Amino acid sequence: MVDLVNVCPSCGLEEENVMHALCSCFFASHVWSLSQLPIPSFNGRNFKQWVEGWLAEPAITPDTKGRICGFLYDIWTSRNAAVWEGFLPYPQKLLRGSFARWEAWKISFQQHVRNLPFQVAEPIPDPHSAAGVICYVDAGFHGPQHAPSYGFIVYEADGTFMAAANGPLTCSYDPILAEALAMCEALSWLKDNGYTAVTLCSR
Ligand SMILES: [Zn+2]
Repeated sequence: MVDLVNVCPSCGLEEENVMHALCSCFFASHVWSLSQLPIPSFNGRNFKQWVEGWLAEPAITPDTKGRICGFLYDIWTSRNAAVWEGFLPYPQKLLRGSFARWEAWKISFQQHVRNLPFQVAEPIPDPHSAAGVICYVDAGFHGPQHAPSYGFIVYEADGTFMAAANGPLTCSYDPILAEALAMCEALSWLKDNGYTAVTLCSR
């Protein structure tokens, strides 16, 4: 018997790391199995490789990718309940909650997009039309050195999650310049990835 320093709070049997907590722990793997989502196998992969496996898989729809993110969040929340409250939910209960939250989020997002004051296209365009995608861009400064960085998130016109990215910027401590450079980063990415019709929203 070896004493584990960092024992998983969900199963109490194995050492915890990201892959174990979110994927291969018996609790997490039971949730994934019940979800019947088309995820790649966990075997021989670390968490980054596993995420890249389904993110890059064109056969997995953006809607399914969003659901996978929702399950990751809910598995992590359950793991925290095990730490702080001493119990885990039934996987079936997590599953029902996760599906309900995803559907509610999609409806809420579509209403949010409809109500945006800077929305260019009204009403919400057909996702299959030339109206294209919606990209939200933001820039920020972090830490005492005011390190500039950008982030953006891309949605289909119907609110389906498409992609997100972030990274460092090279500029002075100037919020307007940083916003402009963040937009350049987002536009370059969109162009490189074949998006020609874009509604760009600065936060
Ligand atoms: Zn575990």
